[in-house]
Amino acid sequence: MKVSAISILLTIVTVGTASTIACSNGGSAHARWATTAGSGAPVSAPSGAYASEVTTSATGAPIPASADNAPLPHINAKRAFQYTREVTAFGERYMGNENHKKLERYILDHLKGDQIEDDAFTADTVEGKFPVRNIIDKFPGTKDGIIVIMGHYDTNYWLRGTGYVGANDGGSSTAILLEFANQLRGARSGDSASPKKRDGYSVWLVWTDGEEAVKTWTDTDSLYGTRHLAETWEKDGTLKKIKALMVMDMIGDADLDIIRNTNGTSWLLDLIYTAAERMGYQSHFYALQGPIEDDHLPFYNRGVPSADVIDLDYGYHNVFHHTPQDTMDKLSPKSLEISGDTILETVRLLDQR
Ligand SMILES: [Zn+2]
Repeated sequence: MKVSAISILLTIVTVGTASTIACSNGGSAHARWATTAGSGAPVSAPSGAYASEVTTSATGAPIPASADNAPLPHINAKRAFQYTREVTAFGERYMGNENHKKLERYILDHLKGDQIEDDAFTADTVEGKFPVRNIIDKFPGTKDGIIVIMGHYDTNYWLRGTGYVGANDGGSSTAILLEFANQLRGARSGDSASPKKRDGYSVWLVWTDGEEAVKTWTDTDSLYGTRHLAETWEKDGTLKKIKALMVMDMIGDADLDIIRNTNGTSWLLDLIYTAAERMGYQSHFYALQGPIEDDHLPFYNRGVPSADVIDLDYGYHNVFHHTPQDTMDKLSPKSLEISGDTILETVRLLDQR
């Protein structure tokens, strides 16, 4: 079954005419390639739309294009990697199990003094009822509007008892958001009782729950947390205030290839690429493209500008995805740095819009 995934990948890259096929691992895919027959032109490298304006320095070395002279963001990649290690060490973390509860506590312990909200409910699934809890950390800004960054922290119920720990899938996304919280906290002054607003839009970090299917990925068995949150935010008017929503998923792979997920808003995908160029990281972005279903979909489908930052080319032929081989030794601090810095730079570019 795993071979089919890469053939899809290759088909998308070279021909672009794959029919609807679920991803690897018995169809219990976390994020699904679902191309439509004859859907489009052949794709390979990013098109001219992303071609960089490369200039040359005095020494002849190329310098990536830069929008301005603002300092480049830098996360603490060592710390983010350590978070990933600690999150992974909890073991399987499916909705409602003991390890999941410990991880909820771990996340909240790292967000002390922040403005935290819960979106908790019970999901009715084909495998029974599960408690679901999205954790929201709000960093108010001076501009009217919200930038949302999400990452899921659950692992798959159907992989329970297999030794699956989801270092990249679930671990890296949880960790990068914890590091984003550090960076956002560090960028504001004032005490926790009256924190200063950040200079830009409000940024909300969301650790999403129930991203994974409990049995087999379908529209109703997947994205439990974000489907609920999108509904909630539609009712209370939050959706209209969101300027951009970005999902971080599987961003720790040492061999990092962020896919241009065409289930997303073009200008935002382009802006992420511009940010990557500014950091000199563009070679890790968009060599592959295709439609992938992930946590951004319930918002994207409601008209929110959305992008999914994901590397679904995890190991040769995506072999580590949703297997007990998704472990820390496949990841690198550098990859967390590449994806983390790029998204923080994207936030800075968004603030200027
Ligand atoms: Zn997954």
